[in-house]
Amino acid sequence: MSIVYFPKIYPDELVSSVLARYYAQSGYITYKNADKDIFVSGHRKIDKEFVKNIRPEVIEQLTRNMTFEELLEKHTMYPYYGRFLDKDRRDAAYEALRNNDGDYLKLFGGNNTKKTETRYMRYCPLCAKSDREEYGETYWHRIPQIKNIHVCHIHGCYFENSEIPMNSEADAKIKMAEGCIPETYDVSYSKKPVQIKLAKYVAAIFESPVDRKQKVTIDKFLRYKMSGTKYLSVRGEYCYYSKLYREMQGFYNGMEELENITQARMQRLMSGDYRGFEVVCMTAMMLGIDMEELVTMHVPRQSPEKQFDQKVKKLMDKGMSMAEVARKMNADPSLVRMSVTITQKKKAKGWRGGNIDNNNHIKDWDKLDELKLEDVKSTIEDLHGCRGTRPVKVSYYAVGKRTGISGYQLERMKKCNRVIEDNIEPAEKYNARKVIWALDRLEEENKPIMLWRLHDLVKLERKELVEAFPYIKQIEPNKVEIIKELLYMEDK
Ligand SMILES: [Zn+2]
Repeated sequence: MSIVYFPKIYPDELVSSVLARYYAQSGYITYKNADKDIFVSGHRKIDKEFVKNIRPEVIEQLTRNMTFEELLEKHTMYPYYGRFLDKDRRDAAYEALRNNDGDYLKLFGGNNTKKTETRYMRYCPLCAKSDREEYGETYWHRIPQIKNIHVCHIHGCYFENSEIPMNSEADAKIKMAEGCIPETYDVSYSKKPVQIKLAKYVAAIFESPVDRKQKVTIDKFLRYKMSGTKYLSVRGEYCYYSKLYREMQGFYNGMEELENITQARMQRLMSGDYRGFEVVCMTAMMLGIDMEELVTMHVPRQSPEKQFDQKVKKLMDKGMSMAEVARKMNADPSLVRMSVTITQKKKAKGWRGGNIDNNNHIKDWDKLDELKLEDVKSTIEDLHGCRGTRPVKVSYYAVGKRTGISGYQLERMKKCNRVIEDNIEPAEKYNARKVIWALDRLEEENKPIMLWRLHDLVKLERKELVEAFPYIKQIEPNKVEIIKELLYMEDK
């Protein structure tokens, strides 16, 4: 076959769209004839999102003015599915695309459309209008096909569904946009500035070049950007994804795009198990991450944990005590102690660090983590104290000592570590627990409750008692009156 005429591809046009125009405009009498010219024999299904089973002559036409890589980046949904994949998966998918053959969606790991729902090709009515004015026809753009974003980044209006199903099995024929997209425009504009801002943000990221050498994973990058925020623990090991989820709900309040955000998805994203393009973009925009930063994903070599450990070491080397370091870094003393222990162990064993997370040990740590979790939880409960037992301040050291887990092990047991961190309380709250315990004890011993007796038992100053008051109210509301009375009596 020799191709006499082949249409020029328009900006942001899908390859399937230009093929449809080729078919319609080349004067084929039946679809079958066009089919033979376009596809490698035996394959007749059009992949609307990618390039698949296309004859070399057609590829040649498509790449007249660009490289094949550019064709993939600018005229297929590759940047949508591929951008945030981990490198080896991205490579494998890219390889398949280069070979013009493969189950792309499977390779990209991604189709979060439920089997039962039909996705349709979408369009922006105002983009269609401007295409017709400029080119005399409209075409299928890529950006409206980004699944969970609903507004045009140029016009701020909602996308519309066409009647053309997206998945290729539903319709093997290529239908060109002209003829499918109505010429009467029914435009509904978004009234939410955040929704329009998101549309622009997403489009800008989608259109940026994909760095195929990128090795940094998206969860690592997001974690790095979260360090020092309320979403990440002080040493940076844990992401409080439920907090993140709640903030997303507030930030994108009332937007249809939220339907795609679930707590489980946020958790999977932050644990490196989910790479959905829209979820990544929405998280990044809420965190105030600059679009260019998200595209390049530069991360300092060191993890937040290592940065924390190094800072601790530096201050300790200057001669500061652990307590001073903790104050200076605004961190709990037990975290500083753990950091010091880890640094010493590494030094003693000559362990170089860094690769433990990638080797086979990780499964064993997970197992141990699971195994010890209940133990850790009940130990924390014990430490909090209840009737009869005096409270002990929850710390890594205290829990580690009682459960027989070393600091080195704890460092790698994510769930246990997190439960402990969540239960590390301010001194005032710990004092409140002591007061409650002391009051119970006095009651049990039938001793009249006097402030000096309380002092005797818990060694707290009056000021500390006052500071503990709000926590007493929180933990044991029925003790509030007694405390009030005690403090009031003292005033007289
Ligand atoms: Zn538009």
